[in-house]
Amino acid sequence: MRGLMQGRQLLVSTYLSHAEAYHSEREIVSRMVEGPQHRTTYGALALRARRVANLLADLGLGFGDVVGTLAWNGFRHMEVWYGTSGSGLVCHTVNPRLFPEQIAFIINDARDRILFIDLTFVPLIEKIIDQLPLVERVVILTDRDHMPATSLKNVACYEDLLAGASETFLWPEFDENTASSLCYTSGTTGNPKGVLYSHRSTTIHCMSANFGDALGMRSTDTVMPVVPMFHVNAWSIPYGAPMVGAKLVFPGAALDGASVYQMLEAEQVTLTAAVPTVWLMLLQHLEKTGARLSSLKRVVIGGSAAPRSMIETFQDKYGVAVCHAWGMTEMSPLGTMGSPRAGLDALPHDQALDLQCKQGRVMFGVQMKITDDQGRTLPRDGTAFGNLKVRGPWILETYLHGAGGKVLDDEGFFDTGDVATLDPYGFMQITDRAKDVIKSGGEWISSIDLENAAVGHPEVAEAAVIGVVHPKWDERPLLIIVAKAGAALDRDAMIDFLRPRVAKWWLPDDVVFVDELPHTATGKLLKTRLREQFKDYRLPGL
Ligand code: AMP
Repeated sequence: MRGLMQGRQLLVSTYLSHAEAYHSEREIVSRMVEGPQHRTTYGALALRARRVANLLADLGLGFGDVVGTLAWNGFRHMEVWYGTSGSGLVCHTVNPRLFPEQIAFIINDARDRILFIDLTFVPLIEKIIDQLPLVERVVILTDRDHMPATSLKNVACYEDLLAGASETFLWPEFDENTASSLCYTSGTTGNPKGVLYSHRSTTIHCMSANFGDALGMRSTDTVMPVVPMFHVNAWSIPYGAPMVGAKLVFPGAALDGASVYQMLEAEQVTLTAAVPTVWLMLLQHLEKTGARLSSLKRVVIGGSAAPRSMIETFQDKYGVAVCHAWGMTEMSPLGTMGSPRAGLDALPHDQALDLQCKQGRVMFGVQMKITDDQGRTLPRDGTAFGNLKVRGPWILETYLHGAGGKVLDDEGFFDTGDVATLDPYGFMQITDRAKDVIKSGGEWISSIDLENAAVGHPEVAEAAVIGVVHPKWDERPLLIIVAKAGAALDRDAMIDFLRPRVAKWWLPDDVVFVDELPHTATGKLLKTRLREQFKDYRLPGL
């Protein structure tokens, strides 16, 4: 028997329509690439998103066409999101931090017909435009006064186009399984692969992300997504905020500690989200200036493991609750969120911190299992670790154009490429990327655990651990460190520091100090580069 409820479709346009109807005066504040701060409201933004929908139609784009963006977090970028997805087009957020060849590859692979770009990225597109035969027009997200001199042909000024477009537009109703947006994996090997989200997957993901035990956004919140809109849709915040009518603050291109701090304070932000690198810069700024955080209540940390010292500093020194989250492009991206759980919410300080260092609890909507290399499910005991696999309505079924072939197992689970433990309460802990785990004497050593322990040293700014070849044990850990300015740290002091913190056989065989570590376009350690760099490294005593 079928249910007798309305089959209204779950569509991206409805988030903004809701905000327009009931939160129209709520503000959206952006730090502009052009310099000044800009203030608008959901009501005004909704009108301009309709103009975007009309201008896309005026330019000859129709249902299913793909529009690329290379833009920082800001109100214009948000208008383009809603104008495209809302009218049945696909919004492809290009990560400008990828290598130019990769950017050209994904714009072609996605078949972007128009690019909306911030001023920052004009030189980048000028450099690769000859490799983009399908791009018909480049729209620069600025006004007439700031239009740059450019060698690009078929270039247009966003504000001019918008002024000429009507704001009368009825968001169309269509099948919720229609594609809404597109992101590419930031793969460290091979070409990036496209992950094509639907209106349905985006909506369900976002509603779950808005749960109190997840992002927990409320109308009374002021939310600043520092995580870029080109990094898996800024973890859904520009979708979820209009659903609840939260005030939005976009930091633009200035992500250094001082600028992020200025925005947090000036707009009295209550909730924010970003990768650990950003928070490291903020905490260093606070330490240097002695400044306090007067409004911030919660910070979401994800994308890479949140170091214990970072969680502790936010909470104990600044009174800001940390939510450690995990996810990936293929998961829209959220999969686990580290919110307090009944029965485990009154642990002694150190145990509570241990729990928060885990990547969080499985969200409703995501099914999760860990398996051994033969695909056998391992116990959910918090100790056994294996390949982490996931299934759910906001997790990909296949990559764009079928890249990479079949990616689900026989039960429909996607292999995340992470190695993890899972406990009876649903707390998941990443012990490594499958390809980064150090295989020593038939056992696995977690490079992430070692890195986390190393950054606990007050003189360590950043740490990476890779496996290097060992004739007896196959691989042994090598610790690579960027020390803080003025540190007097050496190998033996570092090993002594780690000794009480990790199992004896996990202790790195050697420690090297470098000026900086290589990172991917999304701020993760680029271990392939490190492995290449240290492939001939000879451990002491060999
Ligand atoms: P991306 O698709 O670029 O967001 O990368 C996803 C990958 O980032 C995951 O598969 C993890 O390996 C890693 N990752 C994301 N969040 C965390 C976290 N909180 N701790 C450790 N690794 C993480």
